[in-house]
Amino acid sequence: MQRITILGATGSIGISTLDVVARHPDRYRIHALTAHSKVDELAALCVRFRPDAAVVGSPEAAQTLTALLKNLGVPTEVSHGEEALCAVASSAGCDTVMAAIVGAAGLAPTLAAARAGKKILLANKEALVMAGQLFMDAIAASGSTLLPIDSEHNAIFQCLPQPYQRDPDHHGIAKILLTASGGPFLHRDVATLDSVTPDQAVAHPNWVMGRKISVDSATMMNKGLEVIEAHWLFGASADRIEVVIHPQSVIHSMVSYLDGTVLAQLGNPDMRTPIAHALAYPERIASGVAPLDLTKLANLEFHVPDLERFPCLRLAYDALAAGGSAPAILNAANEVAVEAFLDGRIGFRQIDQLISRVMHAATPEAVADIAGLFEQDRHARQLANAFLTT
Ligand code: NDP
Ligand code: MG
Repeated sequence: MQRITILGATGSIGISTLDVVARHPDRYRIHALTAHSKVDELAALCVRFRPDAAVVGSPEAAQTLTALLKNLGVPTEVSHGEEALCAVASSAGCDTVMAAIVGAAGLAPTLAAARAGKKILLANKEALVMAGQLFMDAIAASGSTLLPIDSEHNAIFQCLPQPYQRDPDHHGIAKILLTASGGPFLHRDVATLDSVTPDQAVAHPNWVMGRKISVDSATMMNKGLEVIEAHWLFGASADRIEVVIHPQSVIHSMVSYLDGTVLAQLGNPDMRTPIAHALAYPERIASGVAPLDLTKLANLEFHVPDLERFPCLRLAYDALAAGGSAPAILNAANEVAVEAFLDGRIGFRQIDQLISRVMHAATPEAVADIAGLFEQDRHARQLANAFLTT
């Protein structure tokens, strides 16, 4: 029986994870579930999955959840805040942690799970983008297993020889080919991009996801973050990671080998496939996802990304090249920009402009510890917020 903590249980990835878990009650048991503010949703999940612990964002939310669970006769222990998140992520009561909090808020608990040697199913790419070296060092020191949930990285993992040494040369790999759908604005007239609304930006053609990652997909910052994520996960330099636009999202990514072989992973675009893969690895379990019907596929297209249309992709490659805290600065500026766009404070094209301004104004540094990293994150957010008002 695998005992699981789900960080971000009320989100899109959290709900998909619980869907897969519920199909296999003989294999999985829920140790802890966390949410930020969706208390009613978390209470309903506690009724259904009976976790030992539940964590929310504030004392008020914890009070409400405690009262709800008491009325419902559910004995789940309730706590709140970052320390409580770290506690359920590193608890002796769990073996596996699904890291599915969105943004930098997921870093501390995911790192706590890494230090505690847990099996980590990583959806929270921002944690790895921010803290790449520190995070991979923690994984190596504790001997914890890191399995990618991001569909592209999960696909790449499946196309790599195992055990993988985090060295493309060792395995005769020429390139990692990271596929990207191009999002909702792939063919839209660039001149009209600034008038798009948040609802148009989050309407992804192939995937149903949380609002932040949906905007990231529309700007292609999501792919930029994924290039940095692939760098850390697979030990590949930037020139070995190539982004390929593939609007159908049937191929979830590929690995190109020196002998001319290209291995690809295919499937319907449903996150339950990579989640089930990582949960059961190295075994395979049913995920509820329908098998791909190859005879019903239309043409599969592949294009080179247009960096004029998607400047965020270039900004991410720049941050990876700059190294040190540059990816953390990029991530922080992006989080502020996306929130401002979703709140209607800036237009769509101002997202990349704001990030670019912050990248120019901040000086990336080599960071030796997590406190230094959070300091850089805080400074970049301050800069971004100041630019928002000027
Ligand atoms: P959602 O917005 O749907 O869910 C986010 C979850 O995190 C919710 O449970 C939310 O709680 C919680 N949360 C939000 N802010 C905080 C905070 N400050 N502190 C603690 N918890 C918080 O996001 P997704 O599920 O779409 O994405 C989660 C992660 O997975 C992201 O990093 C994303 O990039 C990655 N990912 C997602 C994919 C997808 O298909 N959705 C695909 C690949 C990667 P509450 O509900 O209470 O607000
Ligand atoms: Mg992805």
